[in-house]
Amino acid sequence: MARPRHPPSQTIVIKLGTSSIVHEVTHQPLLSTLSAVVETVVHLRAQGHKVVLVSSGAIGVGLKRMEVATKPKALSKKQALAAIGQGRLIALWDNLFGQLGQPIAQILLTRGDISDRTRYLNAVNTFKELLSMGVVPIVNENDTVSVSEIKFGDNDTLSAITSSMIHADYLFLLTDVDGLYTSNPRKDPNAARIDVVTSIASIRSQVSTKTLGSNLGTGGMETKLIAAEIATAAGVMTVITSSKDPKNIFRIIEYNNAFKSGTNTPLSGLQSGRSSPEPRAAASSITPTPSSSEESSLTSTPSLEGVSSSSTPFSQAARPPHTLFMPSTMPLRDLKSWTSHTLHPSGSVIIDSGAHHVLSKRESGGRLLAAGVLGVRGAFASGQAVRILIRKHRPGESTEASTGSDSTEGAAEGGGPSSTRTTYPDGSTITAPNTPEINPSASLSSSISTLDALPTVDEDMTPSTTLRTLPEDDTVVIERGVDATAEWELEEVGRGLANYNSAQIERVKGLRSSYIPQLLGYADSEYVVENITIRVPPS
Ligand code: GLU
Repeated sequence: MARPRHPPSQTIVIKLGTSSIVHEVTHQPLLSTLSAVVETVVHLRAQGHKVVLVSSGAIGVGLKRMEVATKPKALSKKQALAAIGQGRLIALWDNLFGQLGQPIAQILLTRGDISDRTRYLNAVNTFKELLSMGVVPIVNENDTVSVSEIKFGDNDTLSAITSSMIHADYLFLLTDVDGLYTSNPRKDPNAARIDVVTSIASIRSQVSTKTLGSNLGTGGMETKLIAAEIATAAGVMTVITSSKDPKNIFRIIEYNNAFKSGTNTPLSGLQSGRSSPEPRAAASSITPTPSSSEESSLTSTPSLEGVSSSSTPFSQAARPPHTLFMPSTMPLRDLKSWTSHTLHPSGSVIIDSGAHHVLSKRESGGRLLAAGVLGVRGAFASGQAVRILIRKHRPGESTEASTGSDSTEGAAEGGGPSSTRTTYPDGSTITAPNTPEINPSASLSSSISTLDALPTVDEDMTPSTTLRTLPEDDTVVIERGVDATAEWELEEVGRGLANYNSAQIERVKGLRSSYIPQLLGYADSEYVVENITIRVPPS
């Protein structure tokens, strides 16, 4: 009899939300779910896989310990409960894993911990070491010291960043529903589960993510989409599935590996858009399954725009219920992923539309020359992360003449075009892409909208220019255009790492690189910003 072949070793991150760890009302630990997760992880380890667990639940366990009925609103109270609960949570995991002889480790992170490149690399090395020792690291946010500036905000984002740090093959977001649905399956009988997502940007318009999420957790489907965006951009296959049956993880891996290992597979067809056994899926972003049937991919599916029918090889094998987000075919390199998702930008560099066009091309290498810089906002040091903003006329008004089209070299990866616009009381606006800020609850848009208009005009600026303060002391100039009524708007299109400080870039802006040594007395680089990731391509 042939021995069963073990699949190749893969690195798997499994994220469990609070609703999968403690009961929503009694806050008692859900021991059967936790035990099933432990058995699954130990089994995956026995197959040679490396597994990291991202576990929420500290606050939930703390609530139970203190017999507090509902999650408090005050940050300090939540932090105190997390401090009470985290020790018990990790003790619980250690106890369960210990029964099966599996050592674990606790890793508590904040964004601040990994926003320095050296500390980030040290965290990566610790993960690597633990995994090579056969240990299962159990990660949570270090809630005690997390304040808005350094908070991941939710463990969906934390798990995505962890997956990208360790170059995981899979990220499993285990939750109380078995996938992403077109609408809330608890309320809408026509809600259809989406099997495969190839473009998160286009799927946003086709699903309603608002209504899902438990009372205890901080996530919901929107944070899962953001997590999927971060993880898939880093090349990680991301799965949403139910925490009720963690053993499905094997079936999901087997199911998707079976397709991956074949030639001309549905997966490769989906990724590349080439003709595949599932040709419509190759061109579309989602493949739905009706909520009413477990093996529903064998049944006909409702007709939606950009959705493939299920009479395909994908559906012929018994497909365990889940939504799979396909990884990017051109994953961001580690440094770029770190820059765009982990770092807190210290200021902004404003570029012209020509530079934006060039940076959007792969050949640019994501490097910006001084010639493409229009201005600098905020104070930042060399080596710090900066927002890349473009200046353009407000929609409906004349467009900015393109300048400095030769201002960049090399490439930047493109991103989703979705963005959030914030309008000030006087009507001026700034737009930012819909990517996670340091703390989603204190994101650029939500913070700015609470600021009052500044009535004064800065003396250093021309009378037609108004200064406004953004969070992190960033300052945005709203300039009046030539016709005195038109206004410029600044839009964040990406992020990068500054090679010079803000004052130095201000001095050399708009000039050829050959002026840098003359003006600054030295030239470390001919580029003022590097490792730029453009998330919003030019329109
Ligand atoms: N870190 C929080 C906790 O352990 C959970 C955050 C989340 O729900 O995503 O309770």
